[in-house]
Amino acid sequence: MHEATLCVHHPTVNEDGYASLAVPTHRASTIVYPDGASFMARKHRGFDGYTYGLHGTPTTRTLEAQLTALHGGLRTVLVPSGQAAVTIVMLSVLMPGDKVLIPDSAYPPVRSFCEDYLAPRGIAHGVYDPMIGGEIAGLIDPTVKLIWVESPGSNTMEVQDVPAIVAAAKARGVLVGCDNTWATPLIFKPLAHGADFACEALTKYVGGHSDLLLGSVTVKDMALRQKLKEILRGFGIGVSPDECQLALRGIETMSLRIAHMGKVSEDFARRLVDHPLVERVLHPALPSCPGHAIWKRDMGRSSGLFSLVLKPVADDAMSTALSALRLFAIGASWGGTRSLVAPQAVAQDRTATAWTAKGPLLRISIGLEDIDDLWNDLDALLVALEQKPAAKVA
Ligand SMILES: *Cc1c(COP(=O)(O)O)cnc(C)c1O
Repeated sequence: MHEATLCVHHPTVNEDGYASLAVPTHRASTIVYPDGASFMARKHRGFDGYTYGLHGTPTTRTLEAQLTALHGGLRTVLVPSGQAAVTIVMLSVLMPGDKVLIPDSAYPPVRSFCEDYLAPRGIAHGVYDPMIGGEIAGLIDPTVKLIWVESPGSNTMEVQDVPAIVAAAKARGVLVGCDNTWATPLIFKPLAHGADFACEALTKYVGGHSDLLLGSVTVKDMALRQKLKEILRGFGIGVSPDECQLALRGIETMSLRIAHMGKVSEDFARRLVDHPLVERVLHPALPSCPGHAIWKRDMGRSSGLFSLVLKPVADDAMSTALSALRLFAIGASWGGTRSLVAPQAVAQDRTATAWTAKGPLLRISIGLEDIDDLWNDLDALLVALEQKPAAKVA
């Protein structure tokens, strides 16, 4: 063989005795077939076979299988982001003339998707009070095909009565999708509570290091998986095995990270209850959080994200005070090793309920820094907000 040929033909090496604990990163567009007949028959391999890199490699399949096992589902599909996990479910279920119900506390881009993409295409949406529970039955008309839940809700942390909503939905043959990003399957398993779709922004706790974007949808019904895969195939959406490899590495430490972050977030939330600047602590583990009793019944454990409603402060006080932070970074997309804070506007995203708090809402994501260092940093922020000179932090 000439050298140009040798350049494109990789030698086969002996893999006997090679056993690694890491999941290999299998990259591929082309999948080759042993003969013409198997290539011609490739479509019979179905969604579980390998036909084209976009539709799965052993790396992506490993992550799918791991999430399926954690959720107690039947199959998982992977998508490029958490937002895509939500939208792909909606696209697989809803047809023109149909309607989806979303909670007022939904991740804001979900509401935008309903308004800006679904509505112009003849798919309606209704927004409901996240604390509605079984009374959602009153909102289910014959056009409703999907009820979306997100528990706890983005920023305002309402814990939803998923079993009650599922019961009302099932009674009318309506599907239920759940954004489970805060809880992860370690704290809540939506499918076990009757939901049809369990969505995760793997970007957050599964990735765990603020360096990847990925989403997943786990189902317990093969027909729903088929619909999701058909939509992904039609749109040409797939995920990179490199991202999946990072997720597979991240997931190995997820239970320890969440156990730690949950403990610290609960501890900080309790300590902040009596702070003179704090109007209300929105942490599912505290009675001051809407749905606390449901959290106790259905979850019982926490991850690292919660919010503070502060007493009213001067307009520019928050941005000035945030400069006092040395450890907490300012930014969104939580769930990594670094602690984050993000002031969030709520009122603009409410239509079914009223957000009446006069002071700002501050969302806090606990990372893996030393607890005392973190507490001192948070304290420095609160001191700065009180417009006293910031206490010296070592
Ligand atoms: C971050 C987040 C998403 C979106 O995840 P991306 O990967 O950033 O698109 C969806 N739902 C919830 C609850 C989130 O917090």
